[in-house]
Amino acid sequence: MKPAITVLGTGRMGSALVHALLKAGHRPVVWNRTLEKATPLAAAGAVVATSVREAVEAAEIIIVNVTDYPATAALLRGDVATALRGKLVVELTSGTPHGARDAGEWAAAHGVSYLDGAIMATPDFVGTEHGTILVSGPRQAFDRNKDMFRALGGNVQHVGEDLGLANALDSALLALMWGALFGALQSIAVCRAERIDLGELARQWTATAPVVQGLVADLIKRTAAGRLAADDETLSSLSPHYSAFQHLVELMEVRKIDRTVVDGYDAIFRRAIAAGHLHDDFAALSQFMGKAG
Ligand code: NAP
Repeated sequence: MKPAITVLGTGRMGSALVHALLKAGHRPVVWNRTLEKATPLAAAGAVVATSVREAVEAAEIIIVNVTDYPATAALLRGDVATALRGKLVVELTSGTPHGARDAGEWAAAHGVSYLDGAIMATPDFVGTEHGTILVSGPRQAFDRNKDMFRALGGNVQHVGEDLGLANALDSALLALMWGALFGALQSIAVCRAERIDLGELARQWTATAPVVQGLVADLIKRTAAGRLAADDETLSSLSPHYSAFQHLVELMEVRKIDRTVVDGYDAIFRRAIAAGHLHDDFAALSQFMGKAG
């Protein structure tokens, strides 16, 4: 018997979650603040509820995917709380580690089981082999519902009992993603200024991406091991990085390209160099990113 599942929030991501559940043979109950956005899901086989209470009462598992945690709190922390007792809430809305821990405390005080997940994918990946969702909270609650999680993506992982872990990892991975996306914006600006066809940029990026991926993996590995000084395995010390960086800055100066992002890089480079790390491994910069836990 498949458990009865409700999905609160049928925006872009919520709708993808509903379609994934339908594909796996569930018949989810759905609710959305703007009812019209949920109605197309009825044609696909979902049951549309017209109130949060109706939706919550219809299921054992309540998946939530709205904009943010205050929106979830407004939906669940009122009269509906009594209807949630004994049920499992799976929060898949993006949030912070402390937001997840706070929600877990509220749930425990109200007799509700709680798992907190971070969706590391766009809606088109949900329900596919490559769909990644990180889940934190009680392992038992995760294991008991493995089939449901498998329906949401081929790579749904329990990352730990601490409810904040999924969101913490989400922020860490987003930091990496934005590094790449803002880097891409910078590359595009350079190409435009130098009249380089963006198709050429795309081709050369595809060719050089494995080098960057290797550098990122090496940086994480060396930082974890505390190998910050240069050694036989160092791929590049700060010195050549900073020289090449100067070329980029000079080009940007000449072409009047916005320096907001690179000024941040420059500040970190300078702090590390002033502290005597010019000939250390690039990983030495990890000491200049703020207080470590
Ligand atoms: P979206 O298409 O804008 O949908 C937002 C949903 O939240 C809608 O169902 C909306 O209802 C609902 N909502 C907003 N405020 C609400 C409130 N105060 N009370 C009740 N419902 C409210 O956004 P989305 O892309 O689906 O994203 C939803 C969540 O998934 C976010 O936390 C986002 O960070 C996360 N996520 C998204 C992606 C992605 O690629 N899209 C990837 C990873 C994680 P209405 O229809 O009534 O406005």
